[in-house]
Amino acid sequence: MFDINQRFYRYSEYLTRKFGSKVQKISVNTGLSCPNLDGTRSFGGCIYCNNEGFVPSYSNKITPIPDQIDQGIIFFERKRQYQYLAYYQSYTNTHTSPENLRNLLMQSVNHPKIVGIVVSTRPDCVSPEIISVLKEVHQIKPLMVEFGMESSLDRTLKLLNRGHSYEQLCSAVERSAQAGLDVGVHVILGLPGELRDEIIGHARAISKLPVSIVKIHQLQIVKRTKLAKLYREDPNYVQLIGWEDYVEICCDFLEILRSDIAVDRFASQTKPELLEVPYWDGVKNHHITHLVQNRMVERQSYQGKHWE
Ligand code: SF4
Repeated sequence: MFDINQRFYRYSEYLTRKFGSKVQKISVNTGLSCPNLDGTRSFGGCIYCNNEGFVPSYSNKITPIPDQIDQGIIFFERKRQYQYLAYYQSYTNTHTSPENLRNLLMQSVNHPKIVGIVVSTRPDCVSPEIISVLKEVHQIKPLMVEFGMESSLDRTLKLLNRGHSYEQLCSAVERSAQAGLDVGVHVILGLPGELRDEIIGHARAISKLPVSIVKIHQLQIVKRTKLAKLYREDPNYVQLIGWEDYVEICCDFLEILRSDIAVDRFASQTKPELLEVPYWDGVKNHHITHLVQNRMVERQSYQGKHWE
């Protein structure tokens, strides 16, 4: 159970419990693609996707992974972080053969300052052989796997051109957890066509799964995406949520979310030059976290209050 005064279970607390002290993620780029972009599943990609939006400047796919980690450590040691997780973040990091995946992961595992691995992927890219490799690496250093879930509604997944169903997400989460891995899911609040009750319903769906971590994002419309085009053609295509309403939605979401699921974040920030809308008047991720906590205090509430 988390400290009730904090109102929700923070990812930083989860990591401290797991690793004994503060840890910092370092993004590494494998150069792997995504089946939803390279034609394995589709060429179009998810309608909101522009990978330029989340590749950090120190991560470069032509740099060997151990060098990317060293560059990340130099960047973060200014902030006095001494334990690191290798974060396989961009695109789909299990979209390769089991042999190549093992090779890519072992390059981080063998780095002396890496204490654990986080692998981000899609629910349709975890065959039994891939899960065996993840499990094998996990036996050397803790490995957490993150899936892009985005929504628990198949109609939304279809509209987003995700190329997988909610059932596939459930199966991937169950099989990963059965292999002993801690599992995280990413969800986007405010997707086109979703009503408020449906948005909150994602918390109920997540809480029924063996999930340890949730990463929450607001819907951002990023330039040079299909969604940006749809929005420009018809601004009513998306019901944009202001930050004040978004804070309330996050509180409602937390009240349903199981209390042992750590919350990685409530919002993300696309690079300003890539953001089409919403601007949120300069309100940043850490402001949203404080606002949610303060609002939960005002509501005399806490994570899991309404979870059965
Ligand atoms: S799965 Fe991820 S990388 Fe692939 S198209 Fe969708 S958002 Fe982009």
